[in-house]
Amino acid sequence: MKTIGLLGGMSWESTELYYRWINEGIKAKLGGLHSAKIAMVSVDFQEIETMQHAGDWDAAGEALAAAGKQIEAAGADFLLICTNTMHKVAPQVEAAIDIPLLHLADATAMQIKAQGYDTVGLLGTNFTMEQDFYRGRLEEKHGLTVIVPNAEDRQLVHSVIYNELCLGQVKADSRAEYLRIIDSLQAAGAQGVIEGCTEIVMLVQQPHTTVPLFDTTAIHAQAAVDLALA
Ligand code: GLU
Repeated sequence: MKTIGLLGGMSWESTELYYRWINEGIKAKLGGLHSAKIAMVSVDFQEIETMQHAGDWDAAGEALAAAGKQIEAAGADFLLICTNTMHKVAPQVEAAIDIPLLHLADATAMQIKAQGYDTVGLLGTNFTMEQDFYRGRLEEKHGLTVIVPNAEDRQLVHSVIYNELCLGQVKADSRAEYLRIIDSLQAAGAQGVIEGCTEIVMLVQQPHTTVPLFDTTAIHAQAAVDLALA
């Protein structure tokens, strides 16, 4: 079994899910007392969030590259950045390490295409919904058509992530708003919706809607399990 590298803490609320689901995935495959081999560095999200909202992506990239090097030195065979948004600095992290990065957008696109879909809605932070590092990768590298909410709804989705979910708050009103937005994406042509922020699964799970959901936390964790055992 390979050692899985986790760059977490963004936020720790979702990194906790990665840790649990990766261990559950290894146990499901190997049985008994088997558990995952994991090397993790968990950052202080306040520091990273301040850099994000100040637009200081170079500093954020340096911080994550340094964490990536620590994880490699701790014996990881490959690395996961446990957040969609911070894949914005994936190139800096990849340049700093010699182990492969298991890119979250690639793992998600593979799941979508395996279901035979080519048009999907995308929920996440404004960075993820609006910028090329994620949405563009889905479209250009994987040939998907990506639909995002209108500006007002994007702001709502973004603000619930930082002001509620990353603080561990799960509110029924916010779930209702997310479900309304998911329905609007389907009405606009989406065959399914990507939960493109690793905390969204805390708020909306598949039983809440008939629209097919792609939970990036579960997809990334399962991809890590599969690669660790390949
Ligand atoms: N965990 C979130 C994501 O997947 C947002 C937190 C962050 O900005 O990294 O995008």
